[in-house]
Amino acid sequence: MAGSLAGRVALVTGSTSGIGLAIAARYAREGAKVMLNGFGKPDDIARARAEVGAAMGVAEAPYSPADMSKPAEIREMVQRCIAELGGCDILVDNAGIQHVSPIEDFPDEQWDRIIAINLVSNFHAIKAALPGMKAKGWGRIINVASAHGLVASPFKTAYVAAKHGVVGLTKSVALEVARTGVTCNAICPGFVRTPLAEAQVKPLAEKHGVSEEKALTDYLLERQPTKKWVEVEEIAEAAMFLVGPNSGSINGSALSVDGGWIAQ
Ligand code: NAD
Repeated sequence: MAGSLAGRVALVTGSTSGIGLAIAARYAREGAKVMLNGFGKPDDIARARAEVGAAMGVAEAPYSPADMSKPAEIREMVQRCIAELGGCDILVDNAGIQHVSPIEDFPDEQWDRIIAINLVSNFHAIKAALPGMKAKGWGRIINVASAHGLVASPFKTAYVAAKHGVVGLTKSVALEVARTGVTCNAICPGFVRTPLAEAQVKPLAEKHGVSEEKALTDYLLERQPTKKWVEVEEIAEAAMFLVGPNSGSINGSALSVDGGWIAQ
């Protein structure tokens, strides 16, 4: 299939929904072969595979059910991508979860799970994919971090710690790969209209006794100056730019797509 990513293979973690699915579809429309990953109801996974597959010109996109909290499954997913699709030229570490709670009540298992899925999985996926990228002399690693990788909010200790870790990991890997044709960058979205973020609106409305509309603008988007959701297509476009033909000198950056959040 023609397109600026023809001949490239992309692996996007957490791509059965939200930001990951939009990035996967964008790359597929540009001609890449894309392997999907993530959880969800069988129907939702089938729909994601069909949508991205249609852009690739096949019935269904390749899919790995690997659990990003399990290092052995992450390694196996990367190896499968290389064996079945001929490489892993673009790795997008996107899978992520959230839990909101004061630290005194924050469940230990939620802390461990968020650090494992949002941060440690990136380490294992990069470690497995990098040798092949270096051998080809070209590779693009994109870590989907967050505005919470650059600034903090209360009640999100695990998420903020993990995402700050992702930005640090990104910088360190970028320095290691600087002369290899590989780049490593982070995208730092503000609040994006996806199931992960939308799930935070109702509890805020209940907590403050206001409508969901007011909870969105006054509380969830309190620090997002546009007072509007970022859309998944806007993140996908940033991810497209970072793998484009003139992106080789962008390395170790944390690209904010946040409506001005961290400009304050
Ligand atoms: P989402 O809930 O729509 O998608 C998350 C994806 O991760 C899904 O495909 C899910 O199945 C997958 N996933 C979860 N646990 C997994 C596991 N153990 N193994 C494999 N896959 C797993 O969420 P989203 O908003 O699209 O989030 C995607 C990324 O963007 C996350 O890293 C998130 O932290 C980040 N982010 C989101 C926002 C936002 O406002 N939505 C803002 C900043 C950063």
